[in-house]
Amino acid sequence: MASSNSTAERSGLHRIGGAAVAILLALGALALSWYVGWLQRAALLEDIELKARQELDLYVSHLEGQLDRFAYLPPLLGDDFRLQSLLIAPNNRAQQDQVNRFLAHVNRIAGSLDVYLMDAGGVTVAASNWQDEPTFVGRNFGFRPYFKEAMQGRPGSYYALGTTSGRRGYYFSYPVGDAGKPLGVVVVKIDIDTLENAWRNKGTDLIVTDPDGVIFVSTRPEWRYRTLRPMSADAIARIRASRRYPDTELAPLHYQEVRHLPSGARELRIGTPGGAGYIGRAAEMPEAGWRVELLVSQQVVAPQVWQTRLLTLSLLMLFATAGWLYAGRRRRMREREAERRAAMQEALVELEHRVARRTVDLTEANRLLRQEVDDHERTRDELIQAAKLAALGQMAAGINHELNQPLAAMRTYADNARTYLARENLEQAGWNLQQISELTLRMAQISGQLKVFSRKASGQRIRVSLRACLDGAVRILRTRIDGAGVNLVIEIVGDDLFIAADMVQLEQILVNLIGNACDALADRVEKEIRVRARSEAGLVRLQVTDSGPGIAAEHLDRIFDPFFTTSDSGLGLGLSISHTIAQRLGGTLTVANAAGGGAAFSLTLVAWKEAT
Ligand code: ADP
Repeated sequence: MASSNSTAERSGLHRIGGAAVAILLALGALALSWYVGWLQRAALLEDIELKARQELDLYVSHLEGQLDRFAYLPPLLGDDFRLQSLLIAPNNRAQQDQVNRFLAHVNRIAGSLDVYLMDAGGVTVAASNWQDEPTFVGRNFGFRPYFKEAMQGRPGSYYALGTTSGRRGYYFSYPVGDAGKPLGVVVVKIDIDTLENAWRNKGTDLIVTDPDGVIFVSTRPEWRYRTLRPMSADAIARIRASRRYPDTELAPLHYQEVRHLPSGARELRIGTPGGAGYIGRAAEMPEAGWRVELLVSQQVVAPQVWQTRLLTLSLLMLFATAGWLYAGRRRRMREREAERRAAMQEALVELEHRVARRTVDLTEANRLLRQEVDDHERTRDELIQAAKLAALGQMAAGINHELNQPLAAMRTYADNARTYLARENLEQAGWNLQQISELTLRMAQISGQLKVFSRKASGQRIRVSLRACLDGAVRILRTRIDGAGVNLVIEIVGDDLFIAADMVQLEQILVNLIGNACDALADRVEKEIRVRARSEAGLVRLQVTDSGPGIAAEHLDRIFDPFFTTSDSGLGLGLSISHTIAQRLGGTLTVANAAGGGAAFSLTLVAWKEAT
């Protein structure tokens, strides 16, 4: 439990850490995109500012050029004798008419708005617009500062909204006659509207202000006659008195300076509070007393800056997403690899356990099998020994019968010999003693069999003569064979064959097979046992057939089983022991029914080879 808790804690911490990193990255991306936007904004503003400066220089020189174009004219006219004559004789109608025409002519050629002549009292005595309605002729402009300046012997200049025409004009004045005591003043008025129009449609805005901060030239008509800053009542009264801007309100325009740029330009907001942003650059025109300011809207900057910020952010997000996907893929691959390894490890451990379990099982099974084999071998050895004893019993009975007969015969021969010796018939006595000698030899043979069977077989394979073995077996069974009247035929291909076997054991098999055949022939009319032997590919094949009833089909499978018997006196061990011995000798013992009806036992054994 403790470990699962700590795992959950770890994964929780891992998640919190991951979220913190993601938030930090997002903030970093925002800051970076903001900074990139800021850099671009600065670069764009610098561009705009440079452009503004160039345009402003151009405009100021244009403006100065426009004014300079007319500045020479009043001094030239002030020297003209016709104007002086008229001022000396103001009631000379002919002279006035001539001067009016002359001024109209000059006005037309110079391209100015009006040219007019005032007497020392400020009354206009002649004017280029003498024929127009209203005309300046007869009007008094003595209140204008440019008149006063010229009457003091200095060239004057002034900007004002025309009281008669309502048009914005710039006035150049000059004293007529002797500058020390002027006769009057000649004035050239030029049109300001044309200056404004010259600037229109350039994509930037322009304002020209007078020293009081009143805008009198602007590409935006709604800013005209507005002030850059709120004015005191005194200043407004003074301006009203000069009748510079008759019939105008002079309301302040919202004109807020946001900051100074290092280049000297300024960031501004003009119009409503928080209104449109501008980059403003100003230039002074000291002669005219004007201040010219060029304004470039920042509206072109903001969308570009935002676009850059969004693009930067999108790129960063794209990179982050790609990185995140890649990291996820790597992590999944690592997890899969770890799972695969764990599964393989598990399978390996399971396999090892299984092998260990199976090994234990097999070892145990092997041990049991070995034990069983040992038990079986012990049982078989015991059974063989028991069978031998049984056979010995049978043989003892046979031997008893066999020995009694020669013993009786020997007594008779001995009696006969003694009788013939008494009669001194030595020849007959010798013949009888000869018979006794032969009988003792036979008896010795019979007891020899007994000796062979009393010994436990060694199991060692030596060179054994098949014929010798068969002879031994027949000798043991002789009484039974002869008693039953059986005809035993022995056919060995090549006179004799040699087998790698234990002689006692092989003899025992033959005794069993031939003995059983004798039993089977007990009730038969034709009694024949045939033993055939031949050598074949390193083996010796021996067949024992009889003319008996054969073996019942249902008994064929069980005939080699220990204790299987159909006779009342039999033990049912003979065939079982024979089968086992044949196997021990490396051979086989099988049974079948012969074509003629009797049983046919086939014994196959390994032929003796000199090398083995
Ligand atoms: P036993 O001779 O003591 O019965 P065996 O193992 O020698 O034991 O024989 C088993 C049985 O096989 C016999 O009881 C008999 O029925 C049958 N048998 C063996 N040899 C022959 C044969 N040549 N012909 C017919 N039956 C046979």
